[in-house]
Amino acid sequence: MKVQEIIQKIEEIAPKDLACLPEDNNGLLIGSYSADVSKVLLALDLTSDVLDEAINLNCQLIITHHPFIFKGLKNIREDIEQGRLIIKGIKNNINVYCAHTNLDVVDLGVTEALRKKLEFPKGTVLQPTEKEVFSKLAVYVPKDNAYDLLLAISKAGAGHIGAYSHCSFMTEGEGTFKPLEGANPYIGKVGTIEKVQEIKLETIVPNAILSSVIKAMLKAHPYEEVAYDIIPLSNTGKVFGLGAVIQLEEQVKVKELAQRVKEKLNCQQVKIFSRDLDKKISKVAICGGSGGSLIQTAKFAGCQCLITGDIDYHKGQMAMDIGLTVIDAGHYHTEVPVLEYLKGLLNDRIEDVQVYVTKVNTCPYIFL
Ligand SMILES: [Zn+2]
Repeated sequence: MKVQEIIQKIEEIAPKDLACLPEDNNGLLIGSYSADVSKVLLALDLTSDVLDEAINLNCQLIITHHPFIFKGLKNIREDIEQGRLIIKGIKNNINVYCAHTNLDVVDLGVTEALRKKLEFPKGTVLQPTEKEVFSKLAVYVPKDNAYDLLLAISKAGAGHIGAYSHCSFMTEGEGTFKPLEGANPYIGKVGTIEKVQEIKLETIVPNAILSSVIKAMLKAHPYEEVAYDIIPLSNTGKVFGLGAVIQLEEQVKVKELAQRVKEKLNCQQVKIFSRDLDKKISKVAICGGSGGSLIQTAKFAGCQCLITGDIDYHKGQMAMDIGLTVIDAGHYHTEVPVLEYLKGLLNDRIEDVQVYVTKVNTCPYIFL
């Protein structure tokens, strides 16, 4: 497969324009869209060890969660670590792609991986960042080609309503056209007005994938020039955002919950911001990575506890002031479950490409 084809699959899961940091740097950071890929390595960060692992495994693509290039580069030099890794990656034909805050906010992303790892029931979005917006696609196609066109655009993500795929409405009618000089018509002759029995195929498309659906439609359509309409819709769809609010099946004490988090996430230790380890918890908020900005939101959502990472002294104090228990399991440990989860999602969507999860622990600290 080409880098571009794999990126398309990732962006069906985590569309790039859902990123919620304006300065975020998602997408292809190093390499070429047209490079061939047979092996992919997944990691939270691109480090020297991760790059060596990719080279040893003969991977051509590394997909990271955190952007390896974040701010503008002033130079790419061998004597500066970031430059050295870029040069080494390029010399070894390694492409690097990043899915950061777009992977944080989608329903099949960091939060869902963390929820599954903790074996919590399904929840709702803690802090919405975006709502799914739809368009209607109406395309005119010869009757005999309508079904194949429906299959092609459905494969690209059009026509999904809830638990149903391939949703469309087809009406039959008569299309007319006259091929002009220089045209290469699929049906008819230059200079003659043609009448063709056509289908108007209508379906719904999330705007986030509209351009790839149009691309798939144009590729599958037999006409040289395709007539189609894109109509904005007011239908409401999925809500994207950070973290999740989860109603637990039964109440648990803070100390039991913390123990569970520690075991399921395989942490050496967790930090608990609470004076009462016997306090009963029935509603929790979770957020992989740095969830300190969600303390108030979790409290307003009626949660008694927030499970996240990167909680410092003052944020912890603030949580305690408003009566919210926080379990800090670390940035790395609350995010790393997304790698195995993403591997499964990619395996379901791509063939003939081997996907590895890094064996390198890229957590920048250890506990003594
Ligand atoms: Zn992170």
